[in-house]
Amino acid sequence: MVCRTGTDLTQMTGVTDVVLPASQGPDGSWGGALAATAFNTAAGSEICPSILTTSVDGTSVLRPHTKVKVLYEIDSALVAVEFGNSVSTAISYILDIVNIVAANYELQTGIAIENELFLDTRSGNALGHTYPDTKNAADALTNFRLRWAKDPELKAKMDGYGVVSLLSGQNPNSGSGGRQTIGIARLDTACLKGQGYETLPSSISWLALARDKECAVSLIMHEMGHAFSAIHHDYTQSAVMHSLVGNYCSQSFLPVVRSQISGWANDHTDGVGCACAASTGPEVPVPEPEPAPAPQPVPEPMPEPVPEPVPEPVPEPVPEPVPEPVPLPVPEPVNPLADCSGLRRRACRFTLGCIRTRVGCQPNTENGAVCARIPRKKWCRKAGCLWGPAVASNPPVALETAQRARRQRRGLAICQDFAMNSERTPTEGN
Ligand SMILES: [Zn+2]
Repeated sequence: MVCRTGTDLTQMTGVTDVVLPASQGPDGSWGGALAATAFNTAAGSEICPSILTTSVDGTSVLRPHTKVKVLYEIDSALVAVEFGNSVSTAISYILDIVNIVAANYELQTGIAIENELFLDTRSGNALGHTYPDTKNAADALTNFRLRWAKDPELKAKMDGYGVVSLLSGQNPNSGSGGRQTIGIARLDTACLKGQGYETLPSSISWLALARDKECAVSLIMHEMGHAFSAIHHDYTQSAVMHSLVGNYCSQSFLPVVRSQISGWANDHTDGVGCACAASTGPEVPVPEPEPAPAPQPVPEPMPEPVPEPVPEPVPEPVPEPVPEPVPLPVPEPVNPLADCSGLRRRACRFTLGCIRTRVGCQPNTENGAVCARIPRKKWCRKAGCLWGPAVASNPPVALETAQRARRQRRGLAICQDFAMNSERTPTEGN
């Protein structure tokens, strides 16, 4: 598959980029069947331990620090046209460009590129090899690939690299209209050594058509991205893999492209041109270690806390037993119904509730005596009754004697209840 990268930088506008399948490519008759899918099933790949890591912008990549040796051939046209036949100037300038490319790849994809610039001076031309000026991008790529495949020395040299690319000073555009091409690449050509295939030239970048260094960096990143299986993404101009790379010159890979490139590297490593990296990657600049902080004084070990002596528990004072309240002796109640009858004179005298009368020992009113039944004045008064004329309010006595009745009719004094006489009748006074 061949990818042409277009640009309207020069004369034309509205250029498009063409991606051709391998069978229709300019080198279809060379190199045999280079179907991209065949690469993934080839045996012999060195399986590197995957180290999932995160790039500077948070994108995860599979193979951080995978080492890829990249060989850039510089043709005589580039040194002559762009650098005034000064090889040293060309080398210095181009090294600056490819080093920026390498830095971008490592930061964004985890691939650590080792650059090498090559000028083929075997013919005696110090400026490098001069390719036929085909004015056709596809033809130029065919010439590039055939030369490196057929020349034994170049072929041997190529096998030590994961990517081989040409930086050219020619202009492949015919000038008769149509597209303007600034770069061309075959997809899936990186790190083929050890996959059952020989290393193949990957791409041409016509640096003479890049308007400045930034665009040159973007162009080389783009064409090498195709070698690592990345395809075009034209939905944003802020992407390396936009087909109009010569116009927008972005140096940022989209996250999906980073995944593609790191995934290809993860699947195609032979230990020569594309080597498994050490766990940390020797090319990764190791930041200077921070100066060791001044030793902090070792704090004195804290003494074990001495437990405060626990005071002996003071026994709770045993409360004095509260004596059960002793019930006060209940005085024997005065027997109001002391049987006074039959008591002798002395016993009657000292018996509470009894009075001595002429008819023997008798109870007083507190001991059940009934005033209405007491016939004698002295006995009545001793018993606690009232001796006097009958009071109207005095209730009738059921057991009136005949003598009492007579005395009452006559208005004479009789024995009667004391208390009743003391009350006033309801009709008295107002
Ligand atoms: Zn492209």
